[in-house]
Amino acid sequence: MRVLLGGDFDDDEGLAWVRALRQALPEATWLTPEAAREDPGAVQVAVVANPPPGSLTGLPGLRLIQSLWAGVDRLLADPTLPPGVPVARMVDPAMTAAMAETVSWACLAVHRDFFRYAQQQRVGQWRQLTQRRADECRVLVLGLGEMGRAAAQRLAGQGYAVTGWSRSGRHEVPGVPVLTGDPGLAEGLAHAQIVVNLLPLTAATRGLLDARLFAALPAGAAVINLGRGAHLVEADLLEALDRGALQHAVLDVFQHEPLPADHAFWRHPQVTVLPHVAAQTDPRSASAVVATNLRALRDGRPLQHLVDRSRGY
Ligand code: NAP
Repeated sequence: MRVLLGGDFDDDEGLAWVRALRQALPEATWLTPEAAREDPGAVQVAVVANPPPGSLTGLPGLRLIQSLWAGVDRLLADPTLPPGVPVARMVDPAMTAAMAETVSWACLAVHRDFFRYAQQQRVGQWRQLTQRRADECRVLVLGLGEMGRAAAQRLAGQGYAVTGWSRSGRHEVPGVPVLTGDPGLAEGLAHAQIVVNLLPLTAATRGLLDARLFAALPAGAAVINLGRGAHLVEADLLEALDRGALQHAVLDVFQHEPLPADHAFWRHPQVTVLPHVAAQTDPRSASAVVATNLRALRDGRPLQHLVDRSRGY
């Protein structure tokens, strides 16, 4: 099997991927983008991480595009992506576990006021705030896919009053009621002290975290955005924080990454900035996921984690 490996890796990252993928799938021939350009007809599979737009055209033998990233919004935004070629995204248990850890940490820090205590420490202030129980804290998880379900399950296990919101409402997370549609979102927001965004970026979800959504939350709620930067209207968030409508935001993803040095988020006392690390793809475990899917393709078995290109996720 001849596999093109392409993406916006830096040198070290690219080497780590090549090493891990070769080890997981030694029977494959791995081609650089340059090698693929010399013999485009040979490429059967493209394993990619946000490849440059246009780089997957003109490959007549291409049978699968396997993303190394979980979110495929940038990949699907390429208008030259060959139609009819299945696209699979990364679903890696190690990544899902990492996301549940990040959500758990962020919700604990908000609910137990640890971000506020960190602010107090900066100014040498000794002040004890009222402690709340986890079951008194309502968390709304937007998106109940691989990431959202794991996060909701972890939070419910920690005793939080968790509600989920998804497109279809078809999810079984024990102890987590599921809402759908605009009425469901309004109902969930009305009671949520913490909103965790784990939606994919699609036409329907772009800009969802805006002034209207923040206005539907109880006063003093917190927003945790771990989905995509374009879900959030950044100016609306700053406005809601500055007038005290929201208490805190934990942001891992941004409109522009890396976050520009002069961005207000860096120095805002009620914003915690992470450099897109809520759940990183680990080449060691992700390579095994890639190998399983490529062997399924070779053997004519069903492929896993296929994206519905018309739906956008
Ligand atoms: P996923 O498995 O595709 O799940 C997406 C969920 O969102 C599903 O529950 C889906 O509903 C729901 N959804 C989609 N469109 C909706 C809409 N219009 N209204 C309501 N619900 C909607 O995705 P995932 O693997 O959990 O990942 C979610 C996102 O997390 C990714 O797309 C990526 O952007 C982000 N992510 C971030 C990091 C990080 O480090 N920050 C790492 C990995 C992933 P149905 O179940 O009904 O289809």
